[in-house]
Amino acid sequence: MSLPRRLVVATKNSDKVREVRAILAEVAPQVEMVEGGDWPDVAETGATLEENALLKARAVARATGVAALADDTGLEVAALGGAPGVHTARYAGPEADYAANRRALLAGLDGVADRRARFRTVVALVLPDGAETLAEGVLEGHITSSERGSHGFGYDPVFEVDGETLAEMGEERKNRISHRARALTALAAVGGPR
Ligand code: IMP
Repeated sequence: MSLPRRLVVATKNSDKVREVRAILAEVAPQVEMVEGGDWPDVAETGATLEENALLKARAVARATGVAALADDTGLEVAALGGAPGVHTARYAGPEADYAANRRALLAGLDGVADRRARFRTVVALVLPDGAETLAEGVLEGHITSSERGSHGFGYDPVFEVDGETLAEMGEERKNRISHRARALTALAAVGGPR
């Protein structure tokens, strides 16, 4: 099975859209990404990344009639028992922005020696006929003690891999190693619903 010829990226987060586009151009260059689709906001009420990715992709496939690809990502911190996980976007509260979330994370880990963490991305592809596929990508790393770097988005300035934060390495390298790149590479390998 191969990926659909056209798909819409089921997110209004422009940072994610930029990365998904750049990664898909590498791992699935034959796929055309449809722009400008419109759909109602989708409440992320699922208990897992998988459920939330499916909620988003199903709703957008239904609203647009085009195959929809959704990404749900969680940061899992060992010393926090795997939190914030599915609550990563709202770690510092319901209206929290990227900077507030980073500050809350660094404050929560103040004085904690175990800095191990991982990003986990689940991508869901839902076709207009309702067929569904899931794929996952993980990036292991550490939470820094302060912010470093100006590229990327979200928690990138506080997540380091081999001594460099995702915000220091820049998007080209991030997009080669990231959780999102791994999830989309796995999806392209499966190719879509069987
Ligand atoms: P969601 O996948 O829309 O639930 O968003 C999860 C939250 O994780 C986002 O609001 C970002 O703060 C963060 N996030 C998702 N992907 C990345 C990434 O690649 N780097 C840094 N932070 C990310």
